[in-house]
Amino acid sequence: MSTPVPTAALPRARRRSLAGRVGRIAVGGDAPVVVQSMTNTDTADVASTTKQVAELWRAGSELVRITVNTAEAAAAVPRIRDKLDLMGVDVPLIGDFHYNGHTLLTQEPAAAVALAKYRINPGNVGFGRKRDTQFATLIELAIRHDKPVRIGANWGSLDQELAARLMDENAARAEPWDAAAVLREALIRSALDSAARAVEIGLAPERIVLSCKVSGVQDLIAVYRNLAARCDYALHLGLTEAGMGSKGIVASSAALAVLLQEGIGDTIRISLTPEPGQSRTQEVIVAQELLQTMGLRAFTPLVTACPGCGRTTSEFFQELAKVVQEHVRGKMPEWKITHPGAENLTLAVMGCIVNGPGESRHANIGISLPGTGEAPAAPVFIDGKKAVTLRGENIAQEFVALIDDYVANTYGRLPASA
Ligand code: SF4
Repeated sequence: MSTPVPTAALPRARRRSLAGRVGRIAVGGDAPVVVQSMTNTDTADVASTTKQVAELWRAGSELVRITVNTAEAAAAVPRIRDKLDLMGVDVPLIGDFHYNGHTLLTQEPAAAVALAKYRINPGNVGFGRKRDTQFATLIELAIRHDKPVRIGANWGSLDQELAARLMDENAARAEPWDAAAVLREALIRSALDSAARAVEIGLAPERIVLSCKVSGVQDLIAVYRNLAARCDYALHLGLTEAGMGSKGIVASSAALAVLLQEGIGDTIRISLTPEPGQSRTQEVIVAQELLQTMGLRAFTPLVTACPGCGRTTSEFFQELAKVVQEHVRGKMPEWKITHPGAENLTLAVMGCIVNGPGESRHANIGISLPGTGEAPAAPVFIDGKKAVTLRGENIAQEFVALIDDYVANTYGRLPASA
């Protein structure tokens, strides 16, 4: 038998990227991985876009991207910014441009000022000779207004001229690559060549964020590993068109977790298709939970709950886990100000005595509910010690009150005066 060695449970060191800023938010360098999201409202509709940006920000989105596709949308941008400022929503806005960004930003300088970053897709910036001049105009506008840009290449809008050229070069190789590898290279080259052109025009490298989005998990991992090794720009990660429901969440998490574990990625977006009637904020919660469950950041206390099994005959413990998770998520915006550090609180809601007391002891506050045939008593453990036993009809309210007391007495207390 080989000699045992201690296991390591930390992600690999972060890739060293250039440190930049988007408005007041640091992106890249040593900054924490930033969560961003995108609206799906018509940007020209000032009221509904402002409302959705505010919702995404309240859910924890640190940057919010809005599409800027028409003159009306561009005109709406400064009005949206003003309304958000009046509401105290200081989230930086990113403008997403395709085809006509150079015209919109030139004709609507107030939008160019109000936006904190411009997203440019090198595959959609224009065609033929116009592409270079339109790209240059966008970069010059970014320089003039002192804004960073994201050069975001996308599988669905790959620069076709570049792809065709690389296919020709590949055909001349002694051992040609497979077609998928050539297309991945085209995506990476599209981003890298565009970034080099932007630097040549005069944009500082730390004002550039790169992304190369594809919709397949293995393709995304391969593309970003390669991209990360070939540049030191900050990287925006996201699986494009991830899809709906659990498929979108699983695919995005699978791809991004591998890259984050390797230290790759400075900002993330989870591109979920909301279910009909579902809030857009789901993508923010998933991004936060991905970073938090990987131990990279903390946003809100997370509840460890057992899945339940034949030892539980009631759904009470599932309901309690839900009540507790919703309670702490709802309280977090207030706790962030009054009790900083509360986001690190760990909670456990367990269904029976088998793993209940053990798991509850690992959490700051844990409750072990009675399983089938057990006495109707629910011991609560605080910081590893049994603190109290709850019984009766009001277990949920009493447990939530214990959490609130713990937060009030543990986090954000001013140090005793000297
Ligand atoms: S803790 Fe108890 S109820 Fe929960 S899954 Fe384990 S055995 Fe089942």
